[in-house]
Amino acid sequence: MKAARLHSYDDDRLQIDDVPEPTISGPHDVIVRVGGAGLCRTDLHIIEGILAETFPDLELPYTLGHENAGWVEDVGSAVSSVSVGDAVIVHPLVSCGVCLGCRRGEDMYCDAGAFPGLSQNGGFAEFLLTGERSLIKLDPSLEPKDVAAMADAGITAMRACKKVAAQSHGLTKVVVMGVGGLGHIGIQCLRALSPVEIIAADTNEGARKLAEETGADHVIEAGEGVIDRVLELTGGLGADAVLDFVGERGVPAQVPGMLRQGGTYYVIGYGEKVEIPNWDFVIREINVVGNLVGDYMDLVELMALAARGKVKLHTQVYPLKDINQAIDDLYGGRLNGRGILVP
Ligand SMILES: [Zn+2]
Ligand SMILES: [Zn+2]
Repeated sequence: MKAARLHSYDDDRLQIDDVPEPTISGPHDVIVRVGGAGLCRTDLHIIEGILAETFPDLELPYTLGHENAGWVEDVGSAVSSVSVGDAVIVHPLVSCGVCLGCRRGEDMYCDAGAFPGLSQNGGFAEFLLTGERSLIKLDPSLEPKDVAAMADAGITAMRACKKVAAQSHGLTKVVVMGVGGLGHIGIQCLRALSPVEIIAADTNEGARKLAEETGADHVIEAGEGVIDRVLELTGGLGADAVLDFVGERGVPAQVPGMLRQGGTYYVIGYGEKVEIPNWDFVIREINVVGNLVGDYMDLVELMALAARGKVKLHTQVYPLKDINQAIDDLYGGRLNGRGILVP
């Protein structure tokens, strides 16, 4: 089968290779015929070498792609919850089900988890090996390629927005920094889950348009002056929460200045440092909350919203062979919404 593989951290391209199809080896293994795979900023970070230290045993070349949906192609002997031909979305972690993290429902904390597309071959290919525990059957109204990026981008936004919604008694103004693949889902999740007033900021005009279309109450230009623009919209007090979907390009340095007393900085995008004087945690009692993807139930709930049309992914579809074009477009800010690779 064809697969887009990373051969070297020094190269900013993937190569389309002919590789053997994955095969079932464990009783709970499932092979999914990929219907669509989302291109994520994490893929760019992987290509730049960010995982070289996290997974030192990882051997190149391997296949990227961790936001996958498709159809069940083959199942292990113990698989009972899905059948060949079912349309499914794939939670990004293959989890064990018996460790403490799994039993707490925190799939991302699995002690024995595997992460196709990061720690082993992923979905930029015709077929993907995953596990039964990772799969959610799709509502008949949903197509794999239209929801694939919900598997990672979607649940990451969903998880953070659920935290905001859980805190939202008397909380009125929330800033969404960055309206790309995650941010535009975040706006829709906030809209569906909470009564907050949403202020969305992006440097890119296409992204600001997407913010308007997806339901932001105020759309402002990010970059220089963004703190003042947020203060203007919040009566000079600052926002109750900021969801930072960017995590780099100077945004982490801007966020603390946008928060009101008691406000919370939700870290979602990454790449730079959060540096806040500890005095701010005391006198202003601000909070910083980390977010790691989302658990299986976050994906179940997100798919329920998607099936009712409450959350829609804006996608730009590329054939798998054009993966490097998609990567260039993501680097160059020309990708509006989420890039989806279709084998
Ligand atoms: Zn991702
Ligand atoms: Zn586990």
